[in-house]
Amino acid sequence: MFVAGNWKSNKSFSEAKEFANVMQGMSPFPEQVEVMVAPPAPYLAAMGQEGLPFRLGAQNVSATGPGAQTGEFTAEMLAGCGVVDVIVGHSERRDGHGDVDAVVAEKVNRVLEAGLRVVFCCGESLQDRQSDVHFDKVLRQMESAILHLPVEVMDRVVVAYEPIWAIGTGLTATADQAQEMHAAIRGWLREAYDAETAAGIPILYGGSCKPGNADELFACADVDGGLIGGAALEPDSFRAIIDAAGRVASAKVGVDAGA
Ligand code: PEP
Repeated sequence: MFVAGNWKSNKSFSEAKEFANVMQGMSPFPEQVEVMVAPPAPYLAAMGQEGLPFRLGAQNVSATGPGAQTGEFTAEMLAGCGVVDVIVGHSERRDGHGDVDAVVAEKVNRVLEAGLRVVFCCGESLQDRQSDVHFDKVLRQMESAILHLPVEVMDRVVVAYEPIWAIGTGLTATADQAQEMHAAIRGWLREAYDAETAAGIPILYGGSCKPGNADELFACADVDGGLIGGAALEPDSFRAIIDAAGRVASAKVGVDAGA
């Protein structure tokens, strides 16, 4: 299970350090749960110097290499700051910051070339869902950013399914809606690569995931954790989601062992 927090443009630097300290003071996270937090980019270098209790993530990366690119930061720069995971293709960047499919694909390449892990976001709008084109939309996003990747790098790819209508809205996909899309993504990965590769790629759910609904969402067969926005801003709610992932991971191991 993988639980990733995306702070977006929230928290002062001192609040960010305080969050890390509070998490550090908590009892150890459940063993079966990997945890990542993606703070705002200006905090990464300093936070990467600390002994953090979670993987350090970035919310964005440049699609370019080094050079005359004012304001951009490369994947190698992120790696040098201690970042290990990079979120690419978040809907807030696709919709508001020019991250069209080709840019997203290039960012995925840059992250992987720098030896980092990519958390690739995909998801449909409410209109897509109401027009019944949500599967096509998501699988086309997968095709555009993932299909060209060689199988050798796929152990550094995480997919986050985030229905846009559920992000920050308080509306959550039902467990059935999440599971059917995750199963479609897993099926696509099986076709594009092979069964073993597809089974090994974490597929996270994102969209108003909270302590109160995390157990049910994570319990879905093809949901391997969550990408968490609002509920990742407070240590207690983030920890509650991490603990939910721990409980579900133990239950899923039990099911697998019994099968
Ligand atoms: C997100 O931004 O990736 C997200 C899932 O946000 P929220 O949990 O607040 O819906």
